[in-house]
Amino acid sequence: MDSYHLMELPTKVLIGDGVIDRLGEFLKESAGDRKVVISSGSNVTTKIRDAVESALGSEPAWVEVAAADMENVNRVMMAASGSGCIVGVGGGKSVDVGKLAAFKLHLPFYSVPTSASHDGISSPFASLKGLDRPYSIMAKPPVGILADIDVISSAPRRLLASGCGDLVSKLTAVKDWQLANRVKGEYYGGYSASLALMSASVVLDHARRMGRFDRESVRELVEALISTGVAAGIAGSSRPCSGSEHLFSHYLDIVAPESGLHGEKCGIGTIMMAKLHGIDWRRVRSALKSVGAPVEASQIGVDDSMVVEALVRASSIRPDRYTILSRRKLNGKSARALAKATGVI
Ligand SMILES: [Zn+2]
Repeated sequence: MDSYHLMELPTKVLIGDGVIDRLGEFLKESAGDRKVVISSGSNVTTKIRDAVESALGSEPAWVEVAAADMENVNRVMMAASGSGCIVGVGGGKSVDVGKLAAFKLHLPFYSVPTSASHDGISSPFASLKGLDRPYSIMAKPPVGILADIDVISSAPRRLLASGCGDLVSKLTAVKDWQLANRVKGEYYGGYSASLALMSASVVLDHARRMGRFDRESVRELVEALISTGVAAGIAGSSRPCSGSEHLFSHYLDIVAPESGLHGEKCGIGTIMMAKLHGIDWRRVRSALKSVGAPVEASQIGVDDSMVVEALVRASSIRPDRYTILSRRKLNGKSARALAKATGVI
């Protein structure tokens, strides 16, 4: 067990309606007179682009990111030489790509999410395709997060529901972490685990209210997602945020790359992993249903055999991460029974 670890946390978070207009002053201490490079998603609207440009008062260098891969990280890095900071404006990909480019260039990174579909908006991790491993890699957390609730509230409901899926997944992630502590003597941080669980309970305890996705609930969703990223920062690892349900999701990323959003796959995985852990999986399922997140594999276009294969093989993609899947070692038959019993297939 490591006797020490480093906690890296975001320094400032600006959250509220219309805060995008304050982006210029938010970046000032990092950008100064230097260029600002923006890694942006392809679905960032003209309205948001205009708001960003008028808030900065100068034209930034926009790099449109089509995929979260190293090619795009290199494109952002090329554009960012001599710049003051990198800003990720968008959903998942542009934040992941910008975060890693900034980490490699030792530049400050700012996250400006336009949706709230997963916890990468605040975490120290970047999830990229085409690396030697299909799970997130350690970078640095954003220096600052600017979350405009006006902007995020107008994101498609599907993205917000996916964010709820990533939140409930902390329930089984923490269970897996506790298991690894008991069985393997791995470091366990009770404080960061509680913080992650508190974020999960925002959805588990208030699913109906959350599912309205009005400004108030979107703000709570965003704060909970930021908080789970902070929990990972305090833990110094992704343990409080990512367990067996994430391994299941990562496996589906490989065999069915076009099917489902990250948080949707994690949510479905959480239902099944909760049953394996012997905790109330029905509560997870019903919360996900209430917010409009998928609870059956067919809803995200994943067929039964893929679910079974993912359950059997997910633990092999990250053997160093001890979870309930390492302990229970499912075979085809028991995996199918689990997925059927929980209504996933
Ligand atoms: Zn996640």
